[in-house]
Amino acid sequence: MIEKREFYINGRWVAPAQARDHQVIDPSTEEPCAVISLGSQADTDAAVAAAKAALPGWMATPPAERIALVEKLLELYATRGEDLAQAMSAEMGAPIDMARSSQVGAGSWHLSNFIKAAKGFAFDHPLGDHAPNDRIIHEAVGVAALITPWNWPMNQITLKVGAAAIAGCTMVLKPSEESPLNALIFAELMDAAGFPAGVFNLVNGDGAGVGSQLSAHPDVDMVSFTGSTRAGTAISKAAADTLKKVHLELGGKGANVIFADADDKAVKRGVLHMMNNTGQSCNAPSRMLVQREIYDRAVETAAEVANAVTVGNAHDEGKHIGPVVNEAQWTKIQALIQKGIDEGARLVAGGVGRPEGFNRGYYVKPTVFADVTNQMTIAREEIFGPVLSIIPFTTEEEAVEIANDTPYGLTDYVQTQDSARANRMARLLRAGMVEMNGKSRAAGSPFGGMKQSGNGREGGVWGIEDFMEVKAVSGWTP
Ligand code: NAD
Repeated sequence: MIEKREFYINGRWVAPAQARDHQVIDPSTEEPCAVISLGSQADTDAAVAAAKAALPGWMATPPAERIALVEKLLELYATRGEDLAQAMSAEMGAPIDMARSSQVGAGSWHLSNFIKAAKGFAFDHPLGDHAPNDRIIHEAVGVAALITPWNWPMNQITLKVGAAAIAGCTMVLKPSEESPLNALIFAELMDAAGFPAGVFNLVNGDGAGVGSQLSAHPDVDMVSFTGSTRAGTAISKAAADTLKKVHLELGGKGANVIFADADDKAVKRGVLHMMNNTGQSCNAPSRMLVQREIYDRAVETAAEVANAVTVGNAHDEGKHIGPVVNEAQWTKIQALIQKGIDEGARLVAGGVGRPEGFNRGYYVKPTVFADVTNQMTIAREEIFGPVLSIIPFTTEEEAVEIANDTPYGLTDYVQTQDSARANRMARLLRAGMVEMNGKSRAAGSPFGGMKQSGNGREGGVWGIEDFMEVKAVSGWTP
């Protein structure tokens, strides 16, 4: 069993102030795969103090040098890809092939996009030709607390650490207690890359402990959080007394609007996207809105595609989906599937209980409901499992109304071959991102939501700006 009780504070691996063991459970087997420590107030204070002490030096470091360290990090990251993949596969159940490609790949993608964005970013520039003595300086917000989830762990950690480091922030990372192992490897990479002591610190812990302590800490200037809307609300309240900047990347209930003229792969693409990462993605297209002309055929196709999705142990190679992260999520998903049945949705694939052949592990049947109304619980709540809801619609106006009738606003999807309609829809949908006809967003594109899906944007130049203040200076001598 892996034992990793130390935290990374001020450039060194240190023992926790108080012993508080926490077992990391492998969701494929329900067996413990590692022991870590949960930090306490003294550990949080030590990490924040190190970040505060390192801040002036790091802010004064020329951006080119900060960028060069992130380039070094990216170079080293490639050498630990297999270790990171194995860690994520064991702790959160990402199937190993998918962990190697998508989960690990997301990290290098974000780091290289930040490097590119930073090289073209004017950290310091004149206000405009009309005001030669006015200068705009973009400078770090300060000490940043980075609180990350377990579902796309390296994706979230690199989105926050890469941007904060380039912006000149010093930071304390608290990864999810469900998936701490990949974060500990990442801390080794930060150390090996040569970031000055105190710029990056890592303390493991849970939300009630280190998470809350960071959110309320008087010496933390900003919290960047990804996870549930529940925790986002708690963090915003905890941060309010010290008026910290709070960046929130929360849940979603994405609509995937499929018009009758959509390409013939649209339904299949939507189902497979829903099932990817076992449905544990905030931007999952979990509500499939289908125009009535093609509704019956779409339901049939969706059921066939879901029935063909195989479920398997995350350590096995292959294209299957893995278990969900833990028992609490498994139980919550089961209850929501049952709720769908009780509220009158038509189950066309999957259902409650483990898939055939499993009596252990947090495995869920790839599930599809048809004839869902947007008022049903399964259409309103983020399920965070491989469960798709199909909702019929007649007109474009009705589709927009249903799509926007949700507290969330993260990613919506549109499938149509009518380009004028696609563009019209893109403007009408109230979401931070709209992806059309299976085209994924390009390098450097901003990621983030509206409404209860959060605020701010991660990735590319927007991600860096989120960790910066804008300072306006007059009387500057050019
Ligand atoms: P969570 O929000 O509770 O945990 C995410 C991170 O926040 C973890 O690091 C956790 O320790 C920390 N945290 C929790 N409560 C906190 C608090 N009060 N103060 C500070 N930090 C806190 O998510 P979860 O319990 O792991 O998952 C539950 C639900 O969250 C899922 O069903 C899903 O709907 C949602 N979720 C969404 C995303 C996303 O990317 N949008 C990611 C993970 C989970």
